[in-house]
Amino acid sequence: MPKELSPNIQDYLKRIYELTRDGGLATTSELADLMAISPASVTNMLQKLSNTEPPYLTYTKHQGVRLTEAGRRAALKILRRHRLLEEFLVAKLGYTWDEVHAEAEILEHAMSPLLEERMDAVLGHPEFDPHGDPIPDSNLDIPVIQQTSLANLKIDQGGKILRVPHEDPQVLRYLGKCGMRPGVEIKLLSRTPYDQTMRLLIVETGEEVVIGPKLGGQITVRVG
Ligand SMILES: [Zn+2]
Repeated sequence: MPKELSPNIQDYLKRIYELTRDGGLATTSELADLMAISPASVTNMLQKLSNTEPPYLTYTKHQGVRLTEAGRRAALKILRRHRLLEEFLVAKLGYTWDEVHAEAEILEHAMSPLLEERMDAVLGHPEFDPHGDPIPDSNLDIPVIQQTSLANLKIDQGGKILRVPHEDPQVLRYLGKCGMRPGVEIKLLSRTPYDQTMRLLIVETGEEVVIGPKLGGQITVRVG
């Protein structure tokens, strides 16, 4: 059985997976910003991770990195634990969806394969976490979901919310208060020309919600 990677390495692989999920490379400066550490430390780690056996990523100087299959599987393994934990805390321990990310960030590194298996079973093998992110299954397969960013909707176009950003509790409390949760039907009413702020209708309740362009770019929907 392969030994567990250090929490720091697991975090790197998870971040790189998220940055490269839709193709492309993750750059040193993106990672340094996301992890709030110096570009020099990031470069050191990226070199290290491209020289492991097997390598976890391929590193192209001055361009960026992408995960190898070994790196991708290691990232999915930690994402599976993170998302199972978030779902468990909400479904079984009564946490609200804005409270679970910080807990999962810590606990994901301390989770044994047995605990992961039991948690998955007691939850009935959930496919999504509370924020709408898909949970990789025990084979680390993850469904490909047709989705687009809320920011890409056209006026009068409707859709169902799939995922919301999971990291910022304040954002989650705002979205929760507005009724913007995965599974909810929305329709774009208008968009201001000067800053692209969106006015949305929550179809079921008839309530209107205002979402700025940055947040809108982080929420995904299925159109139609
Ligand atoms: Zn999270």
